[in-house]
Amino acid sequence: MSATETPTHLRENPYELARSQLTRVGETFGVDPNLVRVLGECKKTVEVSIPVAMDDGTVSVFEGFRVVHNMTRGPAKGGIRYHPAVTRDEIRALAMWMTWKCALMGLPFGGAKGGVVCDPKTLSTGELERLTRRYTTEIINEIGPEKDIPAPDVGTDSQVMAWIFDTYSMNVGHSVLGVVTGKPLAVGGSVGRDGATARGVLNCIRTALQKEGRRFPDTRVAIQGFGTVGRNLAGLLAEEGARVVALSDSKGAVVNKYGIDVPAAVLHKSEHGVLAGLPGTEDATNEELIEFECDVLVPAALEQVINAENAPRIRAHMICEAANGPTTPAADEILEDRGIFVLPDVLANAGGVVVSYFEWVQGLQEYFWKEYEVNAKLNDIVVRAFEETWAARERFSTSMRTAAYGLAVQRVAEATTTRGLYP
Ligand code: NAD
Repeated sequence: MSATETPTHLRENPYELARSQLTRVGETFGVDPNLVRVLGECKKTVEVSIPVAMDDGTVSVFEGFRVVHNMTRGPAKGGIRYHPAVTRDEIRALAMWMTWKCALMGLPFGGAKGGVVCDPKTLSTGELERLTRRYTTEIINEIGPEKDIPAPDVGTDSQVMAWIFDTYSMNVGHSVLGVVTGKPLAVGGSVGRDGATARGVLNCIRTALQKEGRRFPDTRVAIQGFGTVGRNLAGLLAEEGARVVALSDSKGAVVNKYGIDVPAAVLHKSEHGVLAGLPGTEDATNEELIEFECDVLVPAALEQVINAENAPRIRAHMICEAANGPTTPAADEILEDRGIFVLPDVLANAGGVVVSYFEWVQGLQEYFWKEYEVNAKLNDIVVRAFEETWAARERFSTSMRTAAYGLAVQRVAEATTTRGLYP
């Protein structure tokens, strides 16, 4: 299946958007235009074809990518996405955002991303394993604990990471824990990794609410996406006493302005495969969820779901970007004019890569930490990045997004200048 045959969620070319974001940030923060030109390109884009023996005896050929945007501050880091509408430019944009995210968090990593054009929901476990092992083999010279370290993203999970770890290790002849993060605990994963992105989102929302003298109890939250990030976040918010008023998956949304029973939603989704029909809620569309009345809207699915068309109708007071790139630049301007506070992706969803960093460190040292240590260190890093971004926002009288990107781009630019242009 090719990307052109699949309806896409992308309205605009994400790579062009990411590059124009960089140009704007470079101007605001006075970054040397020569450096902006360097940072506007991806270091390496590898495109592979992945033949897979299917269960029915036929062979399907899938298209895969691995993109490294930048390695100036350390090995490249970024997830692998399995989705029918993945494109090369989407992966390039996501790789660039990873560079900024790692720099903003102060991690010794650059940015990368990978993707395979496939619908994992239609593949059997055997097909998924063969696809993953062949994709890993096709990019085996690109990845490695000192070079480029993949992790889960949309459509991939810890089992997929286990197959990548095993394939790489079988090829080099010994176990290499640091080659991939988001692994199951049984093969060198880190405690706290599964819920790390959601926990980072939670910490950001909490800190933002505190700035306004508010707290979680009775804060109404709408979450789009009920996967690794959305589901874990809903659970954490419910534990904090927040009121989750809307949830969704790819098939649609469920809403209840008085609050949804989150554990019941998790059970319903695992029994029925969809959220629709959850007792005590009304069915709605994903579009309606974005415009649902709430205090905090959390897009936790795909890119560009908040755009110029629906931004004027959004009724949330704050948007926290758990997904990567969920807001188009045109929507951003509208939200800013309307005074809606936006916590940008590179800050809000960085919890995953922070704990991936912890997993990589633990794997290299073969020494594993306790969950409270992981969660406490995660909180330290995310809250420090939040406060640094907040201070830059005030200093430059700008948005949290421009402030976050500005700090990150400055850090990568400084590392580039300090290392010098080779040769
Ligand atoms: P996932 O595959 O586990 O879940 C994705 C969810 O989005 C699913 O519930 C799916 O049903 C829903 N979805 C898919 N298409 C949709 C559509 N068109 N409309 C509404 N919902 C739709 O993925 P995830 O790992 O939870 O990632 C979600 C987002 O968070 C992505 O943007 C990803 O890049 C970002 N992110 C994930 C991590 C991580 O650690 N997993 C880290 C940082 C950022």
